Amino acid sequence: MNFVIIGGDAAGMSAASRAKRNKPELNVTVLEKTMDVSYSACGMPYNIADPARDMEDLVVRGAEVFRKKQGIDLLTGRTARRVDPKNKTVSGTCVDGSGFEYPYDKLLIATGARAMIPNLPGFERPGVMVLKNLEEGRRIKAHIRTHEVKKAVIIGMGYIGLEMCEAFRELGIDVDMVKSRETFLPWMDQKLADAVESELKANQVGLYPGRRIHSIEAEGKKKLQVVCEDLVLSADMVLVAAGVLPNSEIAAAAGLKLGAGNAVSVDETLLSSDPDIYAAGDCADAVHVVSEKKVWIPLALRANRAGWAVADNVCGKAAALKGIAGTAVFKTFNMEVARTGLDVHEALDAGFDAAETVIESRSRAHAHPGSSAILVQLIGDKASGRLLGARMVGKEGVAHRINALAVALHVKMTVEEFSQSDLAYAPPFSPVWDPMLTAANQLLKQL
Ligand SMILES: Cc1cc2nc3c(=O)[nH]c(=O)nc-3n(C[C@H](O)[C@H](O)[C@H](O)COP(=O)(O)OP(=O)(O)OC[C@H]3O[C@@H](n4cnc5c(N)ncnc54)[C@H](O)[C@@H]3O)c2cc1C
Repeated sequence: MNFVIIGGDAAGMSAASRAKRNKPELNVTVLEKTMDVSYSACGMPYNIADPARDMEDLVVRGAEVFRKKQGIDLLTGRTARRVDPKNKTVSGTCVDGSGFEYPYDKLLIATGARAMIPNLPGFERPGVMVLKNLEEGRRIKAHIRTHEVKKAVIIGMGYIGLEMCEAFRELGIDVDMVKSRETFLPWMDQKLADAVESELKANQVGLYPGRRIHSIEAEGKKKLQVVCEDLVLSADMVLVAAGVLPNSEIAAAAGLKLGAGNAVSVDETLLSSDPDIYAAGDCADAVHVVSEKKVWIPLALRANRAGWAVADNVCGKAAALKGIAGTAVFKTFNMEVARTGLDVHEALDAGFDAAETVIESRSRAHAHPGSSAILVQLIGDKASGRLLGARMVGKEGVAHRINALAVALHVKMTVEEFSQSDLAYAPPFSPVWDPMLTAANQLLKQL
């Protein structure tokens, strides 16, 4: 049986490796358009921040290991351009311009997502960059090394922009961040967003939300200008971090159904609307465990897990994924920012009678040295008492705490049940009443 995979990163290589482990006799072919496979995109901002680190450190497993040790027919420099579901073939072009065509019995589309570039003048200028794949990471690092970059403008205020903001500042580069939307972090309560904003301002970052961007212009021979309504920001380089789009075009052209966010619509077995074509990772949608609606939340764990599930299904070991809670965390400077489940607007849209609470507590016990503030926002449903979502910010203890709330969402706990959870306590790690329990106790009063 021929199992062909388009895309050789998290979802694609997870599927390829597991399929070979499950069934060594399977013919597994991976078509990857770049020369890079299986690397940690998530590590790029931290690598860029450190000139002593080599970008190649981010490669988790080299192409040769997949080829020689695992027997995977891994073909780099191959761009898939067309899937023909009727004749069950994938065709496309190699880097040298020649064509290829491969027959498949089962196909996995794992083409990921790409950076969204606004259709505005000047975004094609040299010095305007995006960060999605390893090649783009190398380009940014080389640009900083070979140019005198004293000032960067970041377009967008999502987690990639905020991680890169810290990276630029580590390198001594001044940063302004700008975006068209008015609200800084629209998916959390203002009090929590203000704490993150204060951290950025304390690190001399200029924040300009609510500025409509018109164009990027040249300023003299070397510099750039991001031209907005009522604002012009000068820069030596511009990073466009305005969101991502699923690479679902070849799936759509093959007649596959698209779902949330224009990603490929898949069922819980990762099967698309074609019985022999799966889709996994950032190019595919998923069911949200709280709203039970289709969502597109492109993150790494889901991509890896979905790749495994596809491999199991292709090899006849039935695997079904329950869904995602949208759990995510990032840090910017010394601030950890985490989320799981729905925000208030999403909860109301999903038909819940949403109530929320915001509390401030501490990361360690009362009077224990080194303690810092933790802000928790919890969202619950008045009708059922169910916990619907959480947001958290603080300088320590946020990143791993959010996981307890994520598990509570997966098992559909009520706020009352969560408030009765037996959580660990010792002074260096939390107050006796963990901040999450304090928030749950407060939310109970609203329900
Ligand atoms: C800077 C950065 C930081 C991140 N940090 C985090 C984090 O902290 N936590 C987290 O959960 N997630 C993070 N992510 C997101 C995470 O990297 C992705 O969710 C994950 O890589 C998705 O894996 P994937 O295999 O679906 O897609 P991708 O990693 O995008 O891989 C898709 C592959 O398909 C190839 N491809 C595309 N089209 C074709 C074609 N037509 N033919 C052949 N090959 C094709 C691409 O070249 C690519 O190699 C981050 C991403 C970035 C960019």
